[in-house]
Amino acid sequence: MTSPTTPSRRRLLAGLTASAAAALIPAGREGVAHALGASGPAAAGDYNTDVVIVGGGYSGLACARALVAAGRQVLVLEARDRVGGRCWNQHLPAPFDRFVVEGGAEFIGPTQDRMYALVQELGLRTFTAYNTGKSTNYINGKLTTYSGVLPWTNLFSIGEVGIAMLSLDALAKQVPLDTPWTAAKAAEWDNQTAQTWLDRNVLTRDAKTLLRLAVLALLSAEPRDVSFLYLLHYIHSGGGLTSLLSTGGGAQQDRIVGGSQSIAIGMAQTLGGRILYQAVARSVKQDSGGITVAGDGFTVRAQHAVVAMAPWMASRLSYEPLDGPTQTRLQLMQRVPMGSAWKVQCVYNRPFWRDAGLNGQVTSDAFLPKIVFDNTPPEDGAPGVIMAFFDGQDARDACLMTPAARKANVLKAFTTYFGPQAANPLAYMETDWQAENFSGGGPTGIFPPGVLTGFGPSLRAPIGRLHWAGTETSPVWSGYMDGAVRSGERAAQEILG
Ligand SMILES: Cc1cc2nc3c(=O)[nH]c(=O)nc-3n(C[C@H](O)[C@H](O)[C@H](O)COP(=O)(O)OP(=O)(O)OC[C@H]3O[C@@H](n4cnc5c(N)ncnc54)[C@H](O)[C@@H]3O)c2cc1C
Repeated sequence: MTSPTTPSRRRLLAGLTASAAAALIPAGREGVAHALGASGPAAAGDYNTDVVIVGGGYSGLACARALVAAGRQVLVLEARDRVGGRCWNQHLPAPFDRFVVEGGAEFIGPTQDRMYALVQELGLRTFTAYNTGKSTNYINGKLTTYSGVLPWTNLFSIGEVGIAMLSLDALAKQVPLDTPWTAAKAAEWDNQTAQTWLDRNVLTRDAKTLLRLAVLALLSAEPRDVSFLYLLHYIHSGGGLTSLLSTGGGAQQDRIVGGSQSIAIGMAQTLGGRILYQAVARSVKQDSGGITVAGDGFTVRAQHAVVAMAPWMASRLSYEPLDGPTQTRLQLMQRVPMGSAWKVQCVYNRPFWRDAGLNGQVTSDAFLPKIVFDNTPPEDGAPGVIMAFFDGQDARDACLMTPAARKANVLKAFTTYFGPQAANPLAYMETDWQAENFSGGGPTGIFPPGVLTGFGPSLRAPIGRLHWAGTETSPVWSGYMDGAVRSGERAAQEILG
């Protein structure tokens, strides 16, 4: 199985009722009720509401819920036939199709309080990501196992990595979360890439490799792709490198029973009929009386609009009037590309690597699957699943390979990490985020040098009736689902005053 089936409209919309739609949407009601039909066409017609939200990912859904809680009428325009954006449940192939794994975002961890609150409110459950036993490291052709956050390569390298992590954490604390461009050394740090800093501050090859892997794991980008100031802000935003990189006690601590998209689906269900699916927004036009978001065959007139997506995705809409602040925001959006990420999953009868005392987590410099996790679903009877990321340059190279060559590379690497049993999975799944027309990559938009200092203030600043959400705009847990939720709630507060 190379391309997982998109969850059907019928399944995702289960629980939404036409009567809810009719009760909640102020104008163009017929169109909304129609859009809720399980096999209905894409959004069509003219709608009126208080706030139109473009994007049904975590930021858009959170924004909509906050506004509805405050008594506002909202309409969410979602381009896909599902909610969740960069978070996407995928069913395993038969005979395991009652189990899901995540093609995109999946982990949550301590201090991601908004996500845990949603899990609780929506009656969902978390479970601990498998973390029993030793992790595996494969660097320079050498396979080792280790406990803790850092793999032992050699004493000098590991010492260098430890010192670099302490330095990065200390520097990160000097970057203000709300306004990273005002850090005392903002200009110096935003004039260089993360690679520049590594080259100047790290000597050994193994330490450089491990720190590159850390950047790949966090951003799916090469250290040469990102501003050093941005990396420091990202580290501060996620509570430090140990928090960001750890499984137990860190950002990869917990998973969601039923897959992480269950939270987005639950949020959508609480919004009733306020979401239009397959509604690709193309333009945003404001005037003295309101703001109009239009797409193919539909318009929505509102008092406020929230564009709730990554800056690069937002740059694909056209904006009017193109006044100074809008030009600046547009220039910002042109400069924040998406990271490059694939996620692949191999399904086995059982998680055999656990028998050998391995937790399934790998860091490696092998081609393609460099960061690996045990992704076995929690339910009884579930098969064993190993998941890997291709990040940065690997992800770009993978786009140009044949499916057979990609799979062969994955199985070769998994066999090196876990032994010959890994060579014959029951199924192989891959998700290419570059091929997702309404994501363009992942996990997050990344800031190259010069962008935060040159354009930072326009990241969140509303322009008249137009507001910006999306995880990239969040000071806390930027790049993560939790940051997305926070950004949506912040945009709602701007509107509510
Ligand atoms: C491979 C991968 C792994 C990840 N792992 C994790 C993880 O383990 N933990 C974690 O917390 N985060 C993780 N993330 C990041 C997480 O997915 C994002 O931070 C979060 O989902 C972003 O939410 P958002 O609402 O800001 O944006 P999105 O989720 O991108 O939502 C934007 C929405 O806008 C829609 N849209 C786009 N264009 C239009 C248009 N023109 N008209 C209408 N709608 C439009 C899109 O379809 C989408 O639904 C991962 C992401 C990826 C890709």
